[in-house]
Amino acid sequence: MFRRAIFLLALIISCCTAPSPTAFAQGDPQQGKTTIHVVQRGDTLYGIAQQYGTTVEAIIAANGITDVTTLAIGQRLLIPNATTGDPGVPTQYVIQPADTLLSLSLRFATTVDDLARRNNMLNPHMAYVGQAVTVQEGSTDAQRIGNGWLHTVTARDTLFRIAAQYGVTTQAIFKANELTPSAILMVGQKLVIPGTGTAPALIDLPEPFSNFTLTPGYAEQGKTIMLRLTTEIPVTMTGTFMGRPLVVITDLARTSHAVVFGIDSLAKAGVYPITLDATDAANQRYSITRFVEVRDGGYPYEDLILAPELGDLIDPAITQPELDRILQIVTKFTPQRYFAGPMGLPCSAAVTSQFGTRRSYNGSDYSFVHTGTDFAASPGSPIVAPAAGIVVLAEPLNVRGNAVIIDHGWGVYTGYWHQSEVYVKVGDHVDQGQTIGTVGSTGRVTGAHLHWELYIYGVSVDPLQWVRESFN
Ligand SMILES: [Zn+2]
Repeated sequence: MFRRAIFLLALIISCCTAPSPTAFAQGDPQQGKTTIHVVQRGDTLYGIAQQYGTTVEAIIAANGITDVTTLAIGQRLLIPNATTGDPGVPTQYVIQPADTLLSLSLRFATTVDDLARRNNMLNPHMAYVGQAVTVQEGSTDAQRIGNGWLHTVTARDTLFRIAAQYGVTTQAIFKANELTPSAILMVGQKLVIPGTGTAPALIDLPEPFSNFTLTPGYAEQGKTIMLRLTTEIPVTMTGTFMGRPLVVITDLARTSHAVVFGIDSLAKAGVYPITLDATDAANQRYSITRFVEVRDGGYPYEDLILAPELGDLIDPAITQPELDRILQIVTKFTPQRYFAGPMGLPCSAAVTSQFGTRRSYNGSDYSFVHTGTDFAASPGSPIVAPAAGIVVLAEPLNVRGNAVIIDHGWGVYTGYWHQSEVYVKVGDHVDQGQTIGTVGSTGRVTGAHLHWELYIYGVSVDPLQWVRESFN
């Protein structure tokens, strides 16, 4: 019964025998991918089964076909891989600034619809940087061919854009499609994108932006993020994030741009837009906006009862002038970068109070934040510079005691409070590992310890992140 129906269908559809444009849309057998075949004029179930090395029965079973006469041109058929039949395992992926759901669908050989459905997204345009999504490689699409790709030209495409998106050269696309450089692209045209042997770094950025990354791949309260952008043409870049203007560091060619950004530890967790504006030599402006998730830092809470003589610690009349003086120093921008690679530790001792701890003093609310990392080093033990820089403050302060601040360049400063001895003076260049003083209990403290602080344009962030990660 089934076979006769299939035979009839074969007769009907195979009257027109235009070559199928998906003839080369083979699944990648090495990777055990499942493929979708879009039914073309001239297709038969038998022909499709032959084409993909599977059986008519397997296609019928995989697609739950109960009535083969409903097979229609444009219909999508799941082609089970006859050798493994394994569509890949769902994995987690964190969205990066250069990604869109479209570029992710290409990279993972799936579709925007599938990504949106799998992740319960009501609006796929609201996917944000830092968002962890579940992807299942090769689950629903046939755009992957061999180790390359089949790209359908859209109205927004240019050859430059397509090449950038797949990480290949325009020349490689010309060659693979036997095009001349003067060829005009048509919407709906299919282009073969030659593979590089590995999955291409697919990105989706407007001109003239050619790459955009975030380090680490997400943003968090009290942490540092680094944005890197490249442009195809020299530009001047500005931007804003979380209501603050971005300080963009650009190379001499003006095509490579970096931003080191500190997220306030009290910033509200949520999704924030980041906007970058580039202006070229002809005064043409280009803009890109992405949404970035700022995660909750999960900082602990601490209750502190202050002895009467330490009550000044929470008296703004005492603390504010000193803080203002420090902020005046640590909000300056030095274009020279002195730090390189991850920082070292300023002393070898246990951490007693971590950065970001929410503090209540004498039963107050938890509106106070510990803006540095405390080390329980014994008095007199050495403090070393965790990175190279220039000393910009070395003097006794009321609350912070004997204090040193080092400018590491690019808006990055570190501070060392409560020292017993200070071995450096303002203007000194210090190398990574150089001893700058000793641990003590000067200023308003309960006992000897080193408080280590790191500022980016005046925003205190977790210094230990700079020991684990590199931001140059
Ligand atoms: Zn501290």
